[in-house]
Amino acid sequence: SQRFTGPLKQIAVIIEQYENARASGKRVVGLMDMPVAIEDREDATALSDVGGRVEYDDVSFAYDPDEEYVLEDISFEVDPGETVAFVGPTGAGKSTVVRLLMRMYETDEGEVRIDGHDVRDVTLSSLRDAIGYVSQENYLFGGTVRENIAYGTFDATDEAVVAAAEAAQAHTFIEELPDGYDTEVGEEGVKLSGGQRQRIALARIILSDPEILVLDEATSDVDTETEMLIQRSIEEITADRTTFVIAHRLSTVRDADTILVLDDGEIVERGSHGALLERDGLYANLWKVQAGEINELPETFVERITQ
Ligand code: ATP
Repeated sequence: SQRFTGPLKQIAVIIEQYENARASGKRVVGLMDMPVAIEDREDATALSDVGGRVEYDDVSFAYDPDEEYVLEDISFEVDPGETVAFVGPTGAGKSTVVRLLMRMYETDEGEVRIDGHDVRDVTLSSLRDAIGYVSQENYLFGGTVRENIAYGTFDATDEAVVAAAEAAQAHTFIEELPDGYDTEVGEEGVKLSGGQRQRIALARIILSDPEILVLDEATSDVDTETEMLIQRSIEEITADRTTFVIAHRLSTVRDADTILVLDDGEIVERGSHGALLERDGLYANLWKVQAGEINELPETFVERITQ
């Protein structure tokens, strides 16, 4: 199942840039040598009263203008509150799709719209306020657990912090830490497990209450109980919120309203879990690999994936 998952260093770098950009309101610099300046347009308007309808309209994109498109003619729509899961082999373009929504990069062709507004026409600050991003890496900042949960939410009360931690299934373990919510975490502080860091990150998102959620699910191995707790907090956080998920957990994929299967920058299959299994194509095979029913993908897929 390694082919299907596999966190990338690249993503961690991008996330860091995103966090920095978010914090400073400055431009996001891409991984490519030449910096890509993403700035507010002169006539940019703020996204407000976000409903959460998202449309990709014939979107094509290349990281390098001299190279082939990494995404080609991507079109889909997500209704407010729905969850769309992106699956597909490594390098298929799943992360790139969500980066365009967050406008970490801009499309070369086509439009990405939120509530009918091209994301390039709205202010970056309002866009990033509307979108909550839970990454694979789940950075904690130097500071206390409380500060980490409240990060990004102006004037959060202690009660609200605890309520968010409870919803994220994090409250119990936090209370068991040496100083509870006042325990120092991050580089210098108490060491937390991947599952614990993840639940703190989820609590942060629950507290900030974004209309749109982007979830890059972790692939790290956690025990079954932690897995269950994380699953429960993910259910809590995705309910009634437009959610894009780069899905690695079988349960998240299965429960998504729509699954988009990407391969080599194109949507090759779309539909519900049941419909896609019936189709017996790439999705059905990825699923079988994940579920351990088969050990690897059939030759036809492997060729493209390992090239
Ligand atoms: P994975 O499951 O491994 O995370 P993915 O489906 O998310 O893969 P992307 O990360 O979107 O795939 O990558 C799609 C393609 O774009 C790949 O060929 C990748 O090498 C390339 N790519 C990704 N990020 C960059 C970048 N910052 N600069 C240049 N090329 C990139």
